[in-house]
Amino acid sequence: MNKIGLLKAMQLCKEYSKLDTAARDTLRQQRFDALVAYAKVNSPYYQKLFAALPDSPTLCDLPVVTKPDLMSHWNEWVTDPKVTLSDVNAFMSDRENLGRKLNGKYQVNTTSGSTGNPLVMLCDSTTANVTNGISFCRAYAREEDMKAFISKGGRSIGVYADSGFYLGNGSIHSKLRAFPWKKKQIGIVDALLPTEKIVMRLNEFQPVMLGGYPSNLELLIEEQQSGRLHISPTIIMTGGEYLSPQLREQLSETFGCYVQTSYSCTEGGTIACECREKHLHINDDWLIIEPVDQNNNPVPNGVLADKILLTNLSNYTQPLIRYEVTDRIILHSEPCTCGNPSPWLEIEGRTDDVVSLKQDGRIIRLAPLAIYATLKEEHTLRRFQLVVHSDNRIELRLIPTEGINRAEAFAQASLRLKEFFTAQGVFDYTCILSDEEPKTNPKSGKFKHIIQSAIS
Ligand SMILES: [Zn+2]
Repeated sequence: MNKIGLLKAMQLCKEYSKLDTAARDTLRQQRFDALVAYAKVNSPYYQKLFAALPDSPTLCDLPVVTKPDLMSHWNEWVTDPKVTLSDVNAFMSDRENLGRKLNGKYQVNTTSGSTGNPLVMLCDSTTANVTNGISFCRAYAREEDMKAFISKGGRSIGVYADSGFYLGNGSIHSKLRAFPWKKKQIGIVDALLPTEKIVMRLNEFQPVMLGGYPSNLELLIEEQQSGRLHISPTIIMTGGEYLSPQLREQLSETFGCYVQTSYSCTEGGTIACECREKHLHINDDWLIIEPVDQNNNPVPNGVLADKILLTNLSNYTQPLIRYEVTDRIILHSEPCTCGNPSPWLEIEGRTDDVVSLKQDGRIIRLAPLAIYATLKEEHTLRRFQLVVHSDNRIELRLIPTEGINRAEAFAQASLRLKEFFTAQGVFDYTCILSDEEPKTNPKSGKFKHIIQSAIS
């Protein structure tokens, strides 16, 4: 396979935007065929998996792969036989290696999920260049923001978990290693630090662009309003979690700037970039996204899918072909007035877990967004987090609005929840007031409003 440099990646991204639909489909098909052929020859795992397939398989002929499948066959999955999972784990055991390349070739990233084992991904130079090419060409929803960012000095800082080898902090550390003289231009603040420390660092840095997980940036609203935080970014770019329209507006009002988001993951890089219509257009020159139901059957456009199957057309080191990602999305093919013909998606958000409750021997699954929306309406709550346990116990962690006591806030919230659960046909549950306050996941630094604890 041919390596792609950064300039070439940018050129390819630009050229793609000028192609008509038929030419786009042909290019995607060529990249797909090349990836499958490469995986079949160079990855012992795929060689076995694809052994019984026809010579030129279509996408639907190929089996679906999952994170546990790939992690349990990691050494056979990678196409570089010189790298083993134990090498990568040894590399990651030294935090000093953050931003360095394994064997001088690969950036190392892991998924930050709080459930199960994280997926360990190697990012070769081609994959990194494609991701950066996409970022250069498509990251800004509005051109005027890019121009303003550059003209005001281009200082950017990200509020991300900085405790492990994650995509968010890893890409910043690797830039800082490549351009050590840019320390005043590119920064990172650990999302796990106490808020006052984050505020201090941001005040010092005075970013033109502020990046971070929405839930972490949400905590900064009060700081800016109180005057403890005093920054005036030109643009806020969120990522890694669902950005609700309400939070987008609050951030925009508080910081007086444009707020946008993107959809990315460790396995696929930047899956979709936002346009000025706030539509997340898929980077479908480098990725194939299939919306499917629980049983991997295709879900039509316009309908909420249970998950997606992702095929990453640029990663030849660890081919991801029809890889299951449990994000719930709606795919749209209606034309967008921004002029980008690539399909766009709405994401339900992976911030919160889908909730499972038992009723009369049945399991009732509830969308976290609906529960979130129910509690968000409750004005006695300043901040909340709901933990659903496998025995139908629902634990509410809360911070009441000023002037309201905890018992009163809990009573009001319980009433709201009762109305909601009754309407969903769930009656046999207990709701308890937790002694704990809402908290972020200590490993990933991400905050979930709705948590489903492991089902026993
Ligand atoms: Zn658009």
